[in-house]
Amino acid sequence: MSHPSGCLYVVATPIGNLEDLSARARRILGEVDLIAAEDTRHSARLLQHLGLHTRMVSLHQHNESAQTVELLERLQRGQSIALISDAGTPLLSDPGFELVRAARAAGLPVYAVPGPSALVAALSVAGLPADRFVFEGFLPHKPAARRRVLEGFARETRTVVCYESSHRIAEALDDVVAALGGERRLALARELTKIHEQVVAGTAAELRDWLAADADRSLGEFVLLIAGAPEQRHADQITVTVDDLLKALLGAMSVSEAARVAAGLSGLKKNALYERALQLQAQKS
Ligand code: SAM
Repeated sequence: MSHPSGCLYVVATPIGNLEDLSARARRILGEVDLIAAEDTRHSARLLQHLGLHTRMVSLHQHNESAQTVELLERLQRGQSIALISDAGTPLLSDPGFELVRAARAAGLPVYAVPGPSALVAALSVAGLPADRFVFEGFLPHKPAARRRVLEGFARETRTVVCYESSHRIAEALDDVVAALGGERRLALARELTKIHEQVVAGTAAELRDWLAADADRSLGEFVLLIAGAPEQRHADQITVTVDDLLKALLGAMSVSEAARVAAGLSGLKKNALYERALQLQAQKS
């Protein structure tokens, strides 16, 4: 199949199980002029598995700016390029942003070839609300900075999703306990789609202890999901029923006064409120 001149495909690749590569992704990886891969040696294994021989160049965080210039020239000459990272969706804590931005700015066609991402996979199985969430990417490596970022989530009501590596997951959980308290609910999604896939949920203190109980549990790749804090109710969001209002007023004043105050506060008819107040009074005695 021919591709529009100078088009860039942003292609998601599996985060573990190679069967998760879409048929469209496979076809495009085989058809483009060039694949820009985060690590060509790593992606060579994927291409070998697919029986593809497309030329690859590297695009990683240390050469992204220089390679973007080079790749943009190729796109402008009409070549088609597929951008992939080692696993999952490019740009999500992975290289590619500069290239996509440059291609779009140059008016070149950029197409999504969506598929696996650890972010979406973890959210889909963690059992925490996924309708609104914050993606934090990797937490800072330095403890003080990491603690500060986590403290910033103390009042965050949306689920927070973080990527974490095996050698920092224990420290990250310690810091969640310190910053957000041991009672905050978490989920850990480990080695998704791989042989040792595991999703555990519990309080921050429980998961910290669970991880510490067996060194093997820290192996592999992790997504850490932090449940949102309960919604803070603001005074202007609080609603009370007429009965609750009347009951509260009846504790401090007569039936007719309660009806008058309740009518003033609610805009309802004073007579109806008086009748209701009488009923509530009778129920009390
Ligand atoms: N762009 C990728 C994506 O869309 O999934 C993420 C790239 S980021 C460099 C790699 C991080 O993603 C890992 O450190 C880990 O936090 C998470 N990750 C990747 N594969 C995973 C898996 N199979 N299970 C759990 N987490 C995974």
